[in-house]
Amino acid sequence: MSDSQDTAEALEVWIDQDLCTGDGICVQYAPEVFELDIDGLAYVKGSDDELRQAPGATVPVPLPLLADVRDSAKECPGECIHVRRVADRTEVYGPDAS
Ligand code: SF4
Repeated sequence: MSDSQDTAEALEVWIDQDLCTGDGICVQYAPEVFELDIDGLAYVKGSDDELRQAPGATVPVPLPLLADVRDSAKECPGECIHVRRVADRTEVYGPDAS
């Protein structure tokens, strides 16, 4: 496998619903990527507008939305938004980022 990349490294995001408080801050920052479901918890959403409800399910972070998704992870009161590199699954924003 080559490790060559385009101009930016690909990132993906997932939410740990066990810790989500349902306040909706992430949805305010990035409604294209996050949505509250009828259970009152936030889920990630793909470009097809479908929520990914399997535990630990990820969606790609669209580059134009990176700042909004990063800010969501920083402001999330549940500390349950995880943004990681696709290539090596290293968390870059969120509670497990170094
Ligand atoms: S900001 Fe965090 S705690 Fe709040 S709804 Fe989104 S994922 Fe849940």
